[in-house]
Amino acid sequence: METAILPYTDEHHAFRATVRRFVENEVVPNHGDWEEAGRVPKELWRKAGSLGLLCPTVPEEYGGPGVDFLYSTIVTEELCWAGATGPLLYLHSDIVAPYLVQYGSEEQKRTWLPRLVSGETITGICMTEPGAGSDVAAIRARARRDGDDYVISGQKIFISNGQIADLFVVAAKTDPDAGAKGISLFLVESDRPGFARGRNLEKIGLHAQDTSELFFDGVRVPATNLLGAEGKGFGCLMSQLPQERLLVAIGAVAAAEAAVKWTLDYVQDRKAFGAPLAEKQHVRFALTEAHTEVTIGRVFLDWCVARHLEHALDTATASMAKYWLSDMQNRVIDACLQLHGGYGYMREYPIARAWADARVQRIYGGANEIMKEIIGRALFERR
Ligand SMILES: Cc1cc2nc3c(=O)[nH]c(=O)nc-3n(C[C@H](O)[C@H](O)[C@H](O)COP(=O)(O)OP(=O)(O)OC[C@H]3O[C@@H](n4cnc5c(N)ncnc54)[C@H](O)[C@@H]3O)c2cc1C
Repeated sequence: METAILPYTDEHHAFRATVRRFVENEVVPNHGDWEEAGRVPKELWRKAGSLGLLCPTVPEEYGGPGVDFLYSTIVTEELCWAGATGPLLYLHSDIVAPYLVQYGSEEQKRTWLPRLVSGETITGICMTEPGAGSDVAAIRARARRDGDDYVISGQKIFISNGQIADLFVVAAKTDPDAGAKGISLFLVESDRPGFARGRNLEKIGLHAQDTSELFFDGVRVPATNLLGAEGKGFGCLMSQLPQERLLVAIGAVAAAEAAVKWTLDYVQDRKAFGAPLAEKQHVRFALTEAHTEVTIGRVFLDWCVARHLEHALDTATASMAKYWLSDMQNRVIDACLQLHGGYGYMREYPIARAWADARVQRIYGGANEIMKEIIGRALFERR
């Protein structure tokens, strides 16, 4: 659904048509295989790159399209409307690439950004560790300076694109006694000695996405791989999180919209007690309520995206979008699954997969309880 809130142009609509064709032709027919394999083949990323679908906001001087965040919104919406959980393009295009654009040295940008845009290099970001998820400042991975190098040791967990990425942004402590102020970010290529991928973790949903443990055992990187200033990593992470949270919210609304659409079709087809389910008042009310929630969610989301286009989306509002819209997504999809009866519990039905895929939205990108902490802090500080 498009509201009149966002400034879509003919170019945006043409781009949406390209993305939709790509999703219909390249993603949907293969998605089942990718779910079985637990990953998307790397060639798919290059295809997306060749169509100009990766890294929309990367400036032209670094090989990117240099367009606005609405193009990023379109890519995520189209994938989520199709119920596709892989490829996880937004992590690469709209979370990792912006780190390079904003904090990268000229050399880092010239080396990496064209490769990210083409899909030749796939990326991931490593914050979470077995002992530190919500509490990012408690990470234990260590980066020790040694001459012109840093030597990185530690373990990361739940890393998206962990099996397929060629380049990671890794958070590690350069000063273990300085808490959050001791965190720095590094670019780590996956072919560095000492780097090892653990297994592809078995998840309850998002089966087309790979999620991994990663091990860093004395991984030596040149000091030129430091991303941003030493000790400033925590601030960089925090300032990127609103966009990450907005992306979760965009996926949440699109997935909920898809669920309502599938369910509307289903209840008109399925007969019980001699008539389509859609004729039962409860069924109509349940879908009416779901549709109302999604519509309210869409309007708030589009307002947030509009604010973000003007660089005016604050952290607390992005957190509201992430928490409320991912909760809404879970409520709506659960109600829609119920209306599918036993078929809703079968993975061959998209609603079953959407239900399992939705659950993590309340956990990653900052658990929803952390969102409430952030919103609460802003609320009470204002008084
Ligand atoms: C599929 C998947 C993909 C992911 N991808 C990535 C990735 O690419 N890169 C990356 O770095 N990480 C990634 N993560 C990690 C994710 O961001 C963390 O799982 C998340 O931040 C929560 O951290 P945790 O799992 O350690 O939970 P914990 O921090 O142990 O928290 C557990 C629960 O406790 C509650 N809680 C915690 N703190 C508070 C608090 N202060 N107040 C109230 N309640 C609280 C919340 O309910 C929370 O869910 C991914 C996770 C999953 C499952």
